[in-house]
This record gives sequence, C-alpha cells and structure tokens, in this order.
Amino acid sequence: MATLPNASPRPASPLPAPPDTTMSVGLRIAGVLVDSGVLTAEQLALASRIHKKVAASRTLSSVLIELKLATEAQIRGALRTGKVEAPLGEVLVELGRLEPHELQLALAQQREHPQTPIEDILVDNHFVNAADVVAAQADLLDLTPVFADTMAFEVPLLKRAPISTYKANGFVPVRREGERTLVVFADPANKQQLELARKHFGNDLIVGIGARKSVMAAIGRAEKELVASVAAAPQVIDGGGAVALVNGVLDAALTSRVSDIHFEPGRERLRIRFRQDGVMVLHDDVPNDKAVAMIGRIKVMAGADIAERRRHQDGRIQYDTSRGTVDIRVSIYATIHGEKVVMRLLNNRDTLLTIRDIGMAPRMLEALQRDALDAPSGVVMVTGPTGSGKTTTLYAAVNYLNDANTSIITAEDPVEYMIDGISQCSINPKINVSYAETLKHIVRQDPDVIVIGEIRDQFSAEVAINAALTGHKVLTTFHTEDSIGGLIRLLNMNIEAFLISSTVVSVIAQRLVRRVCPHCAEKHVLTPNELARLGYQPADAAGLTFARGTGCPACRHIGYKGRVAVFEVLVLNETVRDALLSRKTAYEIRRVCVEASGLVTLIEDGIVKAAAGLTSFEELIRQLPRLSRPRPVSELHRLLGVNA
Ligand SMILES: [Zn+2]
Repeated sequence: MATLPNASPRPASPLPAPPDTTMSVGLRIAGVLVDSGVLTAEQLALASRIHKKVAASRTLSSVLIELKLATEAQIRGALRTGKVEAPLGEVLVELGRLEPHELQLALAQQREHPQTPIEDILVDNHFVNAADVVAAQADLLDLTPVFADTMAFEVPLLKRAPISTYKANGFVPVRREGERTLVVFADPANKQQLELARKHFGNDLIVGIGARKSVMAAIGRAEKELVASVAAAPQVIDGGGAVALVNGVLDAALTSRVSDIHFEPGRERLRIRFRQDGVMVLHDDVPNDKAVAMIGRIKVMAGADIAERRRHQDGRIQYDTSRGTVDIRVSIYATIHGEKVVMRLLNNRDTLLTIRDIGMAPRMLEALQRDALDAPSGVVMVTGPTGSGKTTTLYAAVNYLNDANTSIITAEDPVEYMIDGISQCSINPKINVSYAETLKHIVRQDPDVIVIGEIRDQFSAEVAINAALTGHKVLTTFHTEDSIGGLIRLLNMNIEAFLISSTVVSVIAQRLVRRVCPHCAEKHVLTPNELARLGYQPADAAGLTFARGTGCPACRHIGYKGRVAVFEVLVLNETVRDALLSRKTAYEIRRVCVEASGLVTLIEDGIVKAAAGLTSFEELIRQLPRLSRPRPVSELHRLLGVNA
C-alpha cells in the first residue's frame, strides 16, 4: 500500500496537537473538523459524550452524521487534508464500511501473509467492496478514485504508450479531462512510475488510484481492446467490454461454490452478489452505464428479447468452461431501477450423492429406506424452503431406486442432474411443454417410479396422489416449513384427508446449516440463556457443548466451511393416519408424531449435529424452526442410533 505523506502541524485547537496516533481515528477526524470551523468544541464534546454510550455499535463519525453536525462529505474532506494519519482498515471502520471484528480477522490473516496488502484481504473476504476501499484510499492520499473493474478506454489515448509499459508499471490512462489526462495507478506512491506516466501523458496528470487487481485486469482488457481495434470491426457490438465483464463474473462464480448470481440494479450502481454456501456475499458493484451493457450482454447470451425491458423474461445459457459446459438458468425481472437478473448455476453445486451420503442419522435413514423408499407404492415428499437441499435429497432417493428392473420417469423444472438409466423431462413452456401437459402424459409411460419436480398447485398434488393410488411410487418436493406442514398444506389444497392418509408414506423436511470449520473450531459451552433459546429448561441440558469457528486461513476467516443437512423424517404409521383423518390441529399431529412415531424434529437433529461439533448455535437459531421442546441429547442419540 502507498505510504502516506507526513501530516503537517495543525494550528492550536481544544484537542492535543500535534496529531497523536494513539488517538482514535474518529477523534483525529473531529479535530480537523474543529480546526476548519465545521464543528465547535462544544458540539464535539456533546458528540463524544453520546459516542461513549454507543461506542460498541457506532463510530464517532457516524454519531456526528446522525446528529447532523457533519456530513459524510465533510468527514471525507477531513481525510483529504492529510492531517488524519491512519491505517486504511481503521478508516474503513470509522466510515462504517467495515466491522471492527472483520478488521481483526483481516489483520490476523495478514500476519500470516505479510506480503498481501490489507485491502486485498478485506476485499477477497467480502468484508468490504472494492469500490469502498478505493474511495477510502483516494481520500487518504487526496487522489481521484478510479473503479478500474468497470472503466471504459479511449483507444487513441491507450496508443500513446506501449502496452508493455502499462503491464510493467501498473498504470493505464483512463480519459482526457480538458487538457489534462486521468491516469490510474495501482501504486501512486511510486515516483518512478509517476515520472514515466508524465513522459507519455504530459506533466499535468490527474493521478487516479485503483485496486491493484482491478488495474492489472483493466490493462489486460485494454490489450484486448487494442487488438480488436487493429482487427478493425467497424461496428461496436461489445459496448464497453461487456463481454469480458460478464465472463469475468461468471468465471469468478464458477471457481467457488456459488449457486446463484444476482445482478441488482440500484439508482446509480448495479450490485453483483453471489449466493455461496447459502449466504449472499457481495462480489462487485458497477456504475449504471456499464450495467446496461452487461444486462444487454446477458440477455443476448440467454436468448431473451433485448428490446423488451418492461416485462419479466427468462432464458438459458450453456456456458463453456475448461471443465465442461455449465447450464445456467436466467431470470430477468423488471424493477423500478431496471432489470434485475438472477443466474442459477445448475451444475455448480454438490455432485449427485447416494442416500447414505446425505448426512442422515442411522435410524432415520433406516426408517426412510424400510418404510418409504422400499414400500411398493405411495408418495414420498421432500419439503423445505428454497436452498434447503431438497433437490440433492430427491436425487439421492432416485439414485437409490434406480436399477435395471425399475422404470423411472421425471417431470422437472428444470433437470438439475442428469442420471443414466432414467427418463428425464425438462419443462419448457416456450415450446408448450408445460407442467400440466407433462403430468397428463407421464402416467401413460408405464413407469414404476414417477418423480414430480415440485408440487406447486392443486393440480400437481392431485396427479401425485392419483399416481400413488394406481400403484406408483411417487417422489416429489414441496415448499413447506416442516414435515407436518406438508400434510397440512395438502389438506388446505382441498385434498381429502383419507386420500392423503392412504397415499403419503413419508414426509422429509430439511435445511442446510453451515459446517463449523474443523481447522479453527473451539468448544462453545451453551449459556442458560442460549439453552432457553433452543427450548430447553437450562437445568435439563446444563453443560451442553457445541462448536464455533474462530476464523483461520482455511475458512477465509469466516469460521464455516461447507454445509451439513439437518433432517426430520415423518413416517405415517396408523397413529399418525388416525390423527390426520380426525382432522387434528398441526400442534396435536406434531405431538402424536413425536410421541407415537418416534419423530425426531429438525431442531432435535440440529442439536445432535451441533453437539457433534458439526454446526453452531447461531446456525441452529438462524435456520431451524423451534416448534416444540427438544428432548435431551442422550435420548436423541438413542432414537437416532448415534453413538455419543
Ligand atoms: Zn477456520
């Protein structure tokens, strides 16, 4: 990182001078604001008193802004005076762009990799976005921030120096501003590089600062653009390098465990976020002039109507990578700020698992196989919200049933994994292969097992029930909170209780929780308050111990790595069927299931997995419904056949 110019002495002020680096960044900024007359000493004293009370959650600068004693622009102006000598990380915390504990994690990571600049660590961990880092660095050095990821080039300007000079020195011209030229530098403190740039672009440079990675990537794009301009295609199809930008986002997503990419238009910028291990993380944001070209490019790739911007659309992309072709589902949704695009990367998730590998406890798996999958007919439903791993479990069940003597046919929207030996159909309304049409034909194909991707309405529920009544085994998914919720929802779809009780053999509910990183896990003994939040009487579960990740390089200082599935398997025995037939309430059906059918609930399975050190208290609270009191862990171990 660039070194900072020495602070110049300040005139007398109510605060100790000269700048005292033991003083907090907030106080140093406030000192400059007092010196420049933005703030009176009395106002600062007031803000400091308030700040003391909220120091755990607020910075002094944010208190000043909330009290309307200073604006963000004035605070940034104070940084630009060069009188607030402070490390970048602390400035980002003061500006409210970074959490203090994230800074601690980043500093810990830097101690292990002293060569890596702190800004790279912060951005790579998604603690802050690259634009905020560049803006803060530019403030500290009083330079122009340049977001090189998304900048456009002026080809005649690029040609004024050889591309090898840009590559070797980490700078590249951005644009003319009147008589002057804006040049972005990865390291504006390097005097030789500044001199070299002046030779090519004149003495009166506007010095810009950009993130090193972005500047080097921009130089790569500049090279391509120069080659393209030599090839001289007169028509500019690729406005502002949109092809390279979109491919860059896709490539970044495909090299990590990303399931979805969100392009979210805002008033001024397009935010790009990834869903990774089930959690949204910021990837980048780009100004709107680039956004329009990027969204246009995606629409071309997805085969959507480019001219249409006011209606929702969808499409598909077959994206070729070195590892093979990736199927991408694209949904385009018209919002007030423009089109929001979500890309679902279909083959980028976990590979097809066997039923033994999905993480079900031994007794639970036994019951599922014996009472549901091996039953000659009946409906098996996998329920849970989007992103709960339903599809993985559904496919594992299909995999289990798939053998030479069984005919399996599917109606999926869309096919997410291809499995040899079964007949899969992807719904495609554009060519009139609708869900309803497909389900009408599916039974006529003489199948043993029918896989209905999802029960989404009364019609698909009736198809599933009717197929089971005529002796088929039906596997399907359903969007409900828990297993009993699945039964109740069918009742609410006007399916007769006796039809449900005579066809549904099992309902599996599930969630995915993050797995505690095994490299930095430490013991977490639950407090009485935490036990109470799980639904325990503190005395009944005293000493219950989970695990918690403290953050290490292996988990990129997040404390979690990968995910674990948590299950609830309801098998409908006589007692449960009776409860259903007599239209008992969800609460009563749940009680009957737990007491008479050995149901282990989602929260109970989660507690057993957390007690084994697989996941954390926070994940259980965040992800699992807590509808009834959990039983003690020792009893759950016995019910699940888990050795403590
Ligand atoms: Zn770790």
